[in-house]
Amino acid sequence: CGIVGYVGQQEAAPILLDGLRRLEYRGYDSAGIAVCGDGQLRVKKSRGRLQVLSDLTHDGADLPGHLGIGHTRWATHGEPNDINAHPHVSQSGRIAVVHNGIIENYAELKEQLLHKGYGFRSETDTEVVAQLLDYYYADCGDIFEAMIRMLHAVDGAYALGIICADYPDRLLCARKDAPLLLGFGEGENMIASDVTAIIRHTRDIAYLDDGELAILSAKGIRVYDSQMRPIEKEHRHVDWDV
Ligand code: GLU
Repeated sequence: CGIVGYVGQQEAAPILLDGLRRLEYRGYDSAGIAVCGDGQLRVKKSRGRLQVLSDLTHDGADLPGHLGIGHTRWATHGEPNDINAHPHVSQSGRIAVVHNGIIENYAELKEQLLHKGYGFRSETDTEVVAQLLDYYYADCGDIFEAMIRMLHAVDGAYALGIICADYPDRLLCARKDAPLLLGFGEGENMIASDVTAIIRHTRDIAYLDDGELAILSAKGIRVYDSQMRPIEKEHRHVDWDV
């Protein structure tokens, strides 16, 4: 339902919680955040109101780090509960994913991954994205390559935010048939499913188009088409207030 992601100099968790709060009006059944700090991924997620998550993380203080992703979920596959809430973490514990949309071929991919020895914790379609990334990452050792292979394997609609503990300064994202935008800041950059989530931090934005993916660092954002050709996005200035 709602996605927000941050990479920069500030503590990510409070920014993610604030962004998710601004997406609350869209409705959701659970919420969660994952933050990368000290080479580790820390994840907290919970069914129910965002306030539960804020309390659980002491307003984000329990998840230190400058890179993170957050999600408010509107369940499509798997009942609303703590385990099915996003972010979903891969088996290695190194990769975390938030997703809006539906992975249509998740059952088939899950079957293949189960055969390869992957265990699944949740009942969601989204978890196959995390496990598939893990599988390809173990094979090629490069998270960008793993993301491209994963995107070729999945069918359906997605806005995805991805972080990997081995890349503590990189935020990855991709979209197809679900909205996702980039926010260009000063020494920090963001992603969101809706501009209201990031407007406090930047008004310089660009909408991703179908099939595009992006790699964000604190210094800049690189956008690619589905063939991994670099592209220039048209920036927009948001001049209205929320
Ligand atoms: N299909 C995913 C799930 O049920 C994502 C739902 C959403 O867009 O919030 O977990």
